[in-house]
Amino acid sequence: MIPSVLPTYSRAPLSFITGEGSWLIEEDGRRFLDLGAGIAVNALGHANPALVAALTEQAGKLWHTSNLYHIPQQQALADKLVALSFADTVFFTNSGTESCELAVKMARKHFYDKDQPERIEIITFSGSFHGRSSAGIAAAGSEKMTKGFGPLLPGFKHVEFGGHEALTDAISPTTAAILIEPVQGEGGIRTVPDQCLKGLRDLCDQHDILLIFDEVQCGVGRTGKLFAHEWAGITPDIMMVAKGIGGGFPLGAVLATENAASGMKPGTHGSTYGGNPLGCAVGNAVIDIIADPDFLAEVNRKAGLLRQKLEALVGSHPDIFDSVRGSGLMLGIKCKVTNSDVVTAGYAQQVITVPAADNVIRLLPPLNITDDEIAEAISRLDHAASSITPA
Ligand SMILES: *Cc1c(COP(=O)(O)O)cnc(C)c1O
Repeated sequence: MIPSVLPTYSRAPLSFITGEGSWLIEEDGRRFLDLGAGIAVNALGHANPALVAALTEQAGKLWHTSNLYHIPQQQALADKLVALSFADTVFFTNSGTESCELAVKMARKHFYDKDQPERIEIITFSGSFHGRSSAGIAAAGSEKMTKGFGPLLPGFKHVEFGGHEALTDAISPTTAAILIEPVQGEGGIRTVPDQCLKGLRDLCDQHDILLIFDEVQCGVGRTGKLFAHEWAGITPDIMMVAKGIGGGFPLGAVLATENAASGMKPGTHGSTYGGNPLGCAVGNAVIDIIADPDFLAEVNRKAGLLRQKLEALVGSHPDIFDSVRGSGLMLGIKCKVTNSDVVTAGYAQQVITVPAADNVIRLLPPLNITDDEIAEAISRLDHAASSITPA
């Protein structure tokens, strides 16, 4: 008999009823150190007082009106994001994959309105993840996500991650955009080197095509800059955001330059919930905290500390772990044993990590994790590794 919850996930035998900062607590009181943060969503930890206050204050006033009217919280958040980034304009969504939908539509409409309607194709990369909507799975293109769901949305060309020549060859007169995660999340914490991001920017400029960054996982302070691409000193034309920006409340956004967004006029796109007062009240509180340079400096300091301790951990378990990778507090450990066995061994030590492709476990802790919690995390991961029999 099919379960009452559609069985699209194989879930861990864990169930949490409260959260406090970097901790998740089961009904029986067992406390788990959360290095997954709901897959990089709870950027400021669980039950963060500033976010609880923002949400409950708004909840007592007004939940929803629709985008038929002005929404002051949405206006404020858009103004902040424009001031803090390359973008001139923002559209709010409820999730990452909805941001993907708009990014694709916006790129195509841009060229349609420039009398280049043949430019519809978007180049994407192996191992990428852009969500589970029809555009999202077609964009990523992996068999795992697309098999059985055809016909797929046409107009995506997939090239090998890191394949410079294949990428140049893939560009044609029908290319509209290149879409890439500056740091692949689901793909196994694979960082695109700054040099390559710069190269992508140059390539897009040469061919007059749009550069779209998917910062749904790597954005909003995760890598130690507000947005990951800032490390490379270049900017995209369009950027997808979600996960961390809502701190746990479902909120996403598409940021764009005026030029890239030029085709999006009244009536061309919409969302009933996108940017509603509750989501934007929380989003404003999240951005106020994370965009503070002192906060980001702390993220970088803690990232250095965690990375250094992880390198030592990997060194002391050479049969279990291979190497550390990633950027800021978006870190991965490539495993020599099956990654899901390491995640399960972590559960026994009450520490939560998240598996990713390429046999990697992901560490995506709350950005305000404390130094003591970092030390505790290493101790628990050390015990977990010791409990595993090498292959
Ligand atoms: C999670 C994720 C998405 C999809 O976000 P949803 O909110 O699950 O739709 C898209 N892109 C990247 C890089 C992600 O990590």
